[in-house]
Amino acid sequence: TQQHIAFIGLGNMGAPMALNLLKQAYTLKVFDLSAAAMKLLADAGAQAVESAQQAVAGADIVISMLPASRHVEGLYLGEQGILPQIADGALIIDCSTIAAQTSQKMAQAAQARGLSMIDAPVSGGTGGAQAGTLTFIVGGDAASLERARPVLNAMGKNIFHAGTHGAGQTAKICNNMLLGILMAGTAEALALGAANGLDPKVLSDIMSKSSGRNWALELYNPYPGVMDNVPASRNYQGGFGVDLMHKDLGLAAEAALASQAATPMGELVRNLYGMHSKAGAGGKDFSSILELLRK
Ligand code: NAD
Repeated sequence: TQQHIAFIGLGNMGAPMALNLLKQAYTLKVFDLSAAAMKLLADAGAQAVESAQQAVAGADIVISMLPASRHVEGLYLGEQGILPQIADGALIIDCSTIAAQTSQKMAQAAQARGLSMIDAPVSGGTGGAQAGTLTFIVGGDAASLERARPVLNAMGKNIFHAGTHGAGQTAKICNNMLLGILMAGTAEALALGAANGLDPKVLSDIMSKSSGRNWALELYNPYPGVMDNVPASRNYQGGFGVDLMHKDLGLAAEAALASQAATPMGELVRNLYGMHSKAGAGGKDFSSILELLRK
């Protein structure tokens, strides 16, 4: 039988993920606060509705892709929270990157209502979301993951079971702390080369075949004009926002405090992203950290 999906949060990631579900045999009810985002999905064949409550009516699966913990908590548990509205037996998949503790709290609240919920944050960027090649990093019970698997396969390529509720988030923020460090380091190296007369494209080619190679350099180059189809070549529009990266580095810092782990590089790059945001770049793609470092 055809499965009905409610998809809430149609931003840089949610919209292309929902579009990939539409290409499969799923019917979609969608909701976002942005009218433009709703129109994009409605034009592609989704049913755009006026509230999250309307979206979850009759849904077998509920997917959320929102910015941060407070949005996810508000969506499910707030005054107009949708948890009471979701049909018995439905599965909830939260793909947002949020605090592990929030994921645990949400899963408990869902369980108290007889619903299954998993945290399934993603990696792969907007390019991966469009291509349907995302990596899903799942926290929760194995049975719920198996129920989610066909849906996740429609949006991604790799699915990992990190552990119990919240473990997906913990793995995701470790990855993103490393990504932030690699992006800032890559931007720093490219800016140094350019300041000393090197062509950033030539330097990128050299480092891509040398020991400095990494994802930020090879697939998401922060220097304008080195690569097509990355935010650096369109004024850092779209992509993964500075404020979202700053949020993830804050989550990593909280996890470090709670476990007394040493994360000096993560702390440094968190402060760089904080300064960059304060200087007005919060809405730009995170590769724009280059602008903080370049003359
Ligand atoms: P985004 O800001 O582009 O999109 C968020 C969307 O949520 C917006 O369209 C906004 O209108 C909507 N929204 C906010 N509150 C809402 C509510 N109460 N009800 C309905 N809609 C609401 O963010 P994004 O880049 O799509 O990221 C979403 C999540 O995925 C974040 O947690 C982010 O850290 C994570 N993530 C992003 C990327 C990336 O490359 N952009 C990659 C991996 C993970």
